[in-house]
Parts: sequence; structure tokens; C-alpha cells
Amino acid sequence: SFLEDVVPQAPEDPLFGLMAAYRKDTYEGKVDLGIGAYRDNNAKPWVLPVVKMADEILRSDPNLNHEYLPIAGLQDFTQPSQRLILGPDSPAIKDKRTVSLQTISGTGAVHLGALFLSKFYKANTDRAVYFSSPTWANHNQIFSNVSLPIKTYPYFSAKTKGLDFDGMMSTISSAPEGSIILLHACAHNPTGVDPTQEQWKKIAVVMRERSHFPFFDCAYQGFASGDLAKDAWAVRYFVEQGFELCIAQSYAKNFGLYGERAGCFHFVTGAAPDAEKTIGRIASQLTILQRSEISNPPAYGARIAALVLNDDKLFAEWEANLRTMSGRIIDMRKALRSKLEELGTPGTWNHITDQIGMFSFTGLNEKQVLTLREESHVYMTKNGRISMAGLNTQNIDYFAKAVDKVVR
Ligand code: PLP
Repeated sequence: SFLEDVVPQAPEDPLFGLMAAYRKDTYEGKVDLGIGAYRDNNAKPWVLPVVKMADEILRSDPNLNHEYLPIAGLQDFTQPSQRLILGPDSPAIKDKRTVSLQTISGTGAVHLGALFLSKFYKANTDRAVYFSSPTWANHNQIFSNVSLPIKTYPYFSAKTKGLDFDGMMSTISSAPEGSIILLHACAHNPTGVDPTQEQWKKIAVVMRERSHFPFFDCAYQGFASGDLAKDAWAVRYFVEQGFELCIAQSYAKNFGLYGERAGCFHFVTGAAPDAEKTIGRIASQLTILQRSEISNPPAYGARIAALVLNDDKLFAEWEANLRTMSGRIIDMRKALRSKLEELGTPGTWNHITDQIGMFSFTGLNEKQVLTLREESHVYMTKNGRISMAGLNTQNIDYFAKAVDKVVR
């Protein structure tokens, strides 16, 4: 083959390698803290009750068919998705300066945004996109695929296991004017560390001064705090401040619709007399990109979400389900912290409850992570990230004791 010497073996996806190792392990008390998906207290996947209800409604509809959705997706899904992330009274919706396309979950939304920016973003010659260090590993691949140069801003302080706010601000303020800054809307992956509202306000000030472009990745709305508005606060604040920005919105975690690939990409232009015309042109280009990439988005997950988003009763049930998931995770954070403190495990453990969302950056180093895997059958990524959803009332004592042992 002419490709014989040209195509090198790609490295294995580290998360999938971890999952394979976990599956192979025959120890009964093994603990999986690698997965980025919610598990109930019995370590089982959880189909949200509201999703079951919506599914029954869908199945009983005699007119349901399998025709293509429009290129931009199901309007009954994209319109309430706008209201969900931007807020029902958002000026960006009222002024008709938001365009939304249904995407292949959050990943597809990030990709569509990256592709659009790679084609049209010319605010500076660098065209660099700045990621938090660290960030969701896939950001690197997605933006590299569309040939946008990648830079990073400091984010996680190994010392406090919280936000390196000064480092973040200093890099963002010295980045070339008009840089693209990728921000996690809430429940930062992988660290679980979010800026406070006061810090977000300061970030907005620097970004405005430097004319940067905010790219919000929102994969955990409602899943982080249990409160949909609270988790969308940063995005709504930036829109209020008049930023032109884009948002990648995923329904994987907050609906438990992981495999159904329900997501949305939103582009919001700044308030200007001709904003409606500008957004029309942007919409036309996004439609062409979408057509060439996926033609039409998948229907099932969007139909489920649409039923819930457009019905007050189902919506209230969804909010209750969100509180169940986020509440269990917050309980596990409290339990883990207090168990480690009871054991007198060396170090401080307040970061476990300060952090939020699916993941916690424990501060465990690679050597400790590998020892935990070999000696205690506990599986987590090498950077010391644990999925809080993998903990439950049956394994949390075991895990705390294993951590205690490896830290001493
Ligand atoms: N962005 C972040 C920060 C994530 O953590 C994830 C999922 O782990 C995603 C995007 C996209 O997920 P999906 O494509 O399953 O919606």
C-alpha cells in the first residue's frame, strides 16, 4: 500500500484503555472511577424517569416516522434549547441575534463551532484558541482537526487544588487582541473547579478590554448544582455584557442521553442595528457546514428532550431528576471528604467539596494512581481525576481507606 510508511499507529485513547483494564479485572470489589457517565447508588447506569415518560409518549404516537430532520435539526428542540441556556428573557433571543443548530451532542457542537471559526474567524493573525490547562482532552483534537493553533492559560493550582485565578487572568490579558478563549460554562472537566461569579465578572472585563471571543462549552447544565439557571449563570452574564460568542450545549449528562447524541450549537452576535442580518448570514454558512459534515442530525434524543423542554409537567420532573443526580454526587463529595478527614489522611481535603460536577481532581499523583490500581483495584485516570458518580454508599469506605493507605 502506498500508505505503508505514511500512517503511523495512533496512541490508544487513555480512557478506553482504562475501561478495558477495569473490565478485565476479576476482583469483586473493584471500583471504576474513570467513566464520565452518571451511575446510581448501585453503580448502574440510570435512565432518568422523565426520559422513560417521554419515551412512552413517543412510542404511542401513531404518526411518528423516520424521515430526515431539517439540516439545522428539530426546531422544537433548538428553540427551547436557546431559552434553556440563554434564559427565557434573554435579549439575544428577543433581538433575534441567536442562531441554533442541532448537533451530534456536545462534541459535534464544539466541532461545528471550531470549523466555523477556522473558516471565518479573522480577528487577529494568530487565530489561536486558548484552552484552560488542563482541559477536556478532546478539545485539543477537535481544534487541531480544523487547524486552529492551540495555546493554553493556567487554570488549576496544584497547591490549592482550586483555581489559579491570577495565572488565568494574566495569560488572558496578555493574549493577542481578539483571541478565542474556550471556557467551561460550569463543572469544569477534568478539575471540577469553577470560577466564582465575582471571578467571572473580572474575566469578562479583561475579555472585553482585549476584544476576545468567548467560546463556551456547556456539558453539565443542571447536572452540576441541580439548578439550571445557576449553572448557566456565566453564559448569561457574558451575553448580558454584550459579547459576541458561541456555545456548545450537550444533553448527554443532564438527560442521561449519552448514546443518543443530542446537542446544540448556538451563535450569538453582539447587539447592533444590523445584527439580525448578520446572524442570517452566519446561519446560512453554518447550514452549509452542517450539510457537508452530517447532513441531518439524529432524531431520537432530540425528540425526547423536546418533549420535556416544551411541557411544564415533564420539565418539573426533569428538574427533580437533576436534583437527584447532582444531590447524590454532592453527598458523595461530603462523605469522601469527611471520611478522609476522620482517617487523618495527610493533606487537606476541602477541595473535594469545593469542586463541583461529575469530576474531582484529587491531587493524587500518577504513582499513587497506579498503586491504587494495582493494590486496591481502583481505576482512575493518571492525572488523579475521579468520577464522583463512580462512588456510592457501598464502596466509599473502601475507596477512602485505599486513598489513605496510598497517601501515607
Ligand atoms: N465538553 C466537555 C467539557 C465534556 O466534558 C464533554 C463530555 O464529557 C463534552 C464536551 C461532550 O460530550 P458529548 O459529546 O457526549 O455531549
